[in-house]
Amino acid sequence: MEIMKKNQEFIVEIEDMSEEGAGIGKTDGYTWFIKDTVIGDVVRAGAMKMKKHYGFARLVEVLTPSPARVEPRCPVARQCGGCQLQAMDYQAQLAFKEKKIYNDLCRIGGLKDFKPEDMEPIIGMEDPWRYRNKAQFPFGKDKNGRIITGFYAGRTHAIIEQKDCLLGIEENREILRIIKAFMEEFRIEPYDEAAHRGLVRHALIRKGFATGELMVCLVINGRRLPHSQELAQRLLEIPGMTSISYNINTEKTNVIMGREVVNLYGPGYITDLIGPIRYQISPLSFYQVNPVQTQRLYQTALEFAGLTGNENVWDLYCGIGTISLFLAQKARKVWGVEIIPQAIEDARANARLNAIENVEFFTGRAEEVLPAWYEANHMPADVIVVDPPRKGCDPVCLDTIVKMQPQKVVYVSCNSATLARDVKYLGERGYEVKRVRGCDMFPGGVHCECVVKLERRY
Ligand code: SAH
Repeated sequence: MEIMKKNQEFIVEIEDMSEEGAGIGKTDGYTWFIKDTVIGDVVRAGAMKMKKHYGFARLVEVLTPSPARVEPRCPVARQCGGCQLQAMDYQAQLAFKEKKIYNDLCRIGGLKDFKPEDMEPIIGMEDPWRYRNKAQFPFGKDKNGRIITGFYAGRTHAIIEQKDCLLGIEENREILRIIKAFMEEFRIEPYDEAAHRGLVRHALIRKGFATGELMVCLVINGRRLPHSQELAQRLLEIPGMTSISYNINTEKTNVIMGREVVNLYGPGYITDLIGPIRYQISPLSFYQVNPVQTQRLYQTALEFAGLTGNENVWDLYCGIGTISLFLAQKARKVWGVEIIPQAIEDARANARLNAIENVEFFTGRAEEVLPAWYEANHMPADVIVVDPPRKGCDPVCLDTIVKMQPQKVVYVSCNSATLARDVKYLGERGYEVKRVRGCDMFPGGVHCECVVKLERRY
């Protein structure tokens, strides 16, 4: 590819989309990343920066809009960058995600004779809006000194004012209005990051979708929130308000929450359900942000596991035990492994809360706990479920899984590239892909969850 001058224009058709949500098109085999375009657009673009194998260009003009192009519903979709795919029709988003999973499994996973129709239809949402049960809004000031709240623009820490993210719950708006009026009335300053001064950093808002219970936790740069009872009184007017607290974070850090929570009203947690399993969620607990799709995803994992009630099952990377407790209803025994101690505490508390006794949880790395346990007990497994972070499973973990000879491995993943890499690894050691299904946990965003069922061939 000849080097183009900066701003030199060219015409290109967008064929794919990157992890960051930029459109991807090719000219003479050279790859371009072009923001603000969607798959199927034919655009005029201007070259910006060229590397050897790929370059970046800006959108100059959409010549032929993609049939999948829609007007983003959110007025700040472009600045926010939270919903990279909002300019794409939801069905086209789903098709894009399904294709990505398929391509990764073929190219990286090395699956032969695997056809698009071998995938089970991706599980989308009927209504792909207002699905998030959790939001964290930063507070700051605009150039006129007015208190604002919203979200950070792109990768910066400049706050763009926005009180009603369309992925969040409708109550967010009223809660933020109350907090802002309270700060103005009692002259409570928002936190200024650069100067490490001011009090109110973030508002954490959570809702139990099954129960309607609401939680507000104000994160402050200090040990005391003045007039806190007055704030609690006002927030209590919102139907469903169950837990009000503040969190102390006096560090100069990007981490949103500090360790200490001071309770102002309620039991210190809200309750929610995923399927039949009940959860107590405190301000510091991890909990899946899209509970509707979480239930469908884990239901799919349970179906792929095909349990009859006699199986010994492992749930690796178990977090707060959501999958473990789902599986425990149909297994002889489930063992969960998770690296974060607090998550394991929650997992155990969740088991007790639901009177589920056939589960046991270990704190530690899957690639350390599993081999040590197998060395000590020599007990094979019937089914092993994994739900690792984006980087996938450690090879030692995969090797141990193979040694334990489970009939089935159910792989839940939020990154189909590392999923495919691990599927290939297991494939070379006797495990064959039997079922594949995507589940869209993040409508509007580029990421997608996927469940694969593998079975032992020999
Ligand atoms: N199924 C879980 C969520 C899994 S997310 C739930 O429903 O709660 C992936 C989890 O893997 C995270 O909780 C992360 O803390 C954990 N993790 C990351 N690396 C790990 C490792 N090496 N061993 C065990 N757990 C790990």
